[in-house]
Amino acid sequence: MSARPHGYARYRLDGCRCYTCAWARSRYDENRAKAIIAGTWQPWVDAEPVRAHLRSLQACGMGLRAIAAAAGVGRSRLQAVLTGRPERGTGPQKQVRPALAAAVLAVDPTLDNLAPSTLINPAGTRRRAHALVAVGWPQQNLATALNMQPGNFGDMLARPHVLAGRARQMRELYAERWNADPAAHGATPAGITRARRHAAAKGWAPPGAWDEDTIDDPAAFPEWTGVCGTPQGRSVHRRIGIPECQPCRDARTAARRPKEAA
Ligand SMILES: [Zn+2]
Ligand SMILES: [Zn+2]
Repeated sequence: MSARPHGYARYRLDGCRCYTCAWARSRYDENRAKAIIAGTWQPWVDAEPVRAHLRSLQACGMGLRAIAAAAGVGRSRLQAVLTGRPERGTGPQKQVRPALAAAVLAVDPTLDNLAPSTLINPAGTRRRAHALVAVGWPQQNLATALNMQPGNFGDMLARPHVLAGRARQMRELYAERWNADPAAHGATPAGITRARRHAAAKGWAPPGAWDEDTIDDPAAFPEWTGVCGTPQGRSVHRRIGIPECQPCRDARTAARRPKEAA
């Protein structure tokens, strides 16, 4: 799957939720929280948590230039924390001003500031593409909008990773089109019908089943009924004529299982 070692970057970019990755995530949060608290009452703070945070961001594919821009500080100041100035015989800075620490610690790797070539989990990109097809956008039409050959577009959706740059393009395209009329953008009535049927056959969720806050979370699932993932989901699925989803099936199985003896 991923060449990234288990750790913060894998948690963040590949959506791995294994023990090692979850541990790295909690260390990342703890490191940040402690350093921010320390910075509120000291004139100088330990540079080590800032360095650790910089390394986490770098492991996620953010360059020092991008980190400096996101933090609003000079790149050379970050270089001083990481490596010092060996040519002048100075090692990595031992202490930093709290303002610098706070600015760096506030930077998080997000889809907005990752380098375009960073490989990330494709869940959000795939879901957005599928949701657009579900409301009648032919894949060919979407491929053209992203300046891609239809074949490459299909390949992109099938791969275990997607480029952050492509994920950003898909996010923009989705924001423009989820509520727009495919016919007004060159899709034929036959193409629209075909797209809808194809998505229905594949069980692809429409935009209404997704929440913009969770669509990129690999662990999230589409909300078809408003009560998906509860034992009540099944009857709503039946009523609206959409096949029962996996979370609804799981919830029903769990409810049926005899309670374990206390
Ligand atoms: Zn992992
Ligand atoms: Zn459901």
